Amino acid sequence: MAITAESTSILDLAPAEARVRLSDWAAGLGLPEYRIRQLHPRLWDRPVARWSDATELPAELRARLDREWPLPRLELVTEQQSSDGTRKFLWRLGDGETIESVLIPSGARRTLCISSQAGCALGCVFCATGRMGFRRNLTPFEIVGQIRELVLRNPADRPSNVVFMGMGEPLLNWPAVEVALTILNAADGLGIGARHITVSTVGIVPGMQALAGRPEQFRLAISLHAAIPDRRRPLMPIDKRYPLAAVLEAAKAFRKRITFEYVLIAGRNDSNTDADALIALARRMGALVNLLPLHPGGAPHLAPTPAPRIRAFADRLRSGGIEAVVRKSRGLDISAACGQLRVEHAQHAPPAPPGGEEL
Ligand code: SF4
Repeated sequence: MAITAESTSILDLAPAEARVRLSDWAAGLGLPEYRIRQLHPRLWDRPVARWSDATELPAELRARLDREWPLPRLELVTEQQSSDGTRKFLWRLGDGETIESVLIPSGARRTLCISSQAGCALGCVFCATGRMGFRRNLTPFEIVGQIRELVLRNPADRPSNVVFMGMGEPLLNWPAVEVALTILNAADGLGIGARHITVSTVGIVPGMQALAGRPEQFRLAISLHAAIPDRRRPLMPIDKRYPLAAVLEAAKAFRKRITFEYVLIAGRNDSNTDADALIALARRMGALVNLLPLHPGGAPHLAPTPAPRIRAFADRLRSGGIEAVVRKSRGLDISAACGQLRVEHAQHAPPAPPGGEEL
């Protein structure tokens, strides 16, 4: 029997499993082999919004597929485009929750930053998503569907790179993220090379161990934001549960070079002492460092490090032999800080009815 929309959809399954389910179903109907081979590519490779759009199939079969294997969708609530080309999407899920993705073009590269949870429980002080709290985990389809929807709308938007840096902590939703990684990477899924897929974590040690156990070499980024534990803990409460030393130990299992993400916040993590501690850590781990200006929309109570101080901080890292890149703050004229668009949309939305879902 086909999976129903209320439980798991065919798009929540790893491609190999989806292929078996569809093939068994089609073989049960007595469809010829060539017909069966036409079904699977319509899931991810050449996606259709609904089976009825797969006009290479007979109309009766399309109608039956739509009844028995309905393809779920994410509803686009709003899209914003920045003058720098960054585009931000707010999607509504089946139960009314909303999540965000950000598409960042850079030369030939199109990097899509995707969400793995609606909201987040971890409360990092510089993050708009953290302030809204945790709503729920996303399903594999709701994660990879963020790409599927873009491709349905415009195949030219298919991202070359994917980063799990949107709403939520991916390694706290490992069962779904694990399947999502397979769909992203598999040749009969989206076929994005593992080197072009980055999982960014605050340092959930069991999840890091599970990710390191995958045979593909997905990239790991650690949201570090301070190399001195006493400076990191007030910024990232999760440091109490998984102290930095344990996170770094778990990171040693990754064969590919790791990246430290470091948002510079005035007076909190941008002194020379902070830079020197970061140099020592990055050297020990052989890590690249991405320095990010604090997005002004992400945390109104914190001040971004001024540009000259960012340059001095980066220069100090480089003099210490560290490969450090200062990332441009993208989409400054739109709500591109993680979680910001959802928060703003909720502020402008009519109040939820009593007992209803608050957006
Ligand atoms: S930075 Fe990431 S882990 Fe921290 S609160 Fe925001 S979404 Fe959660």
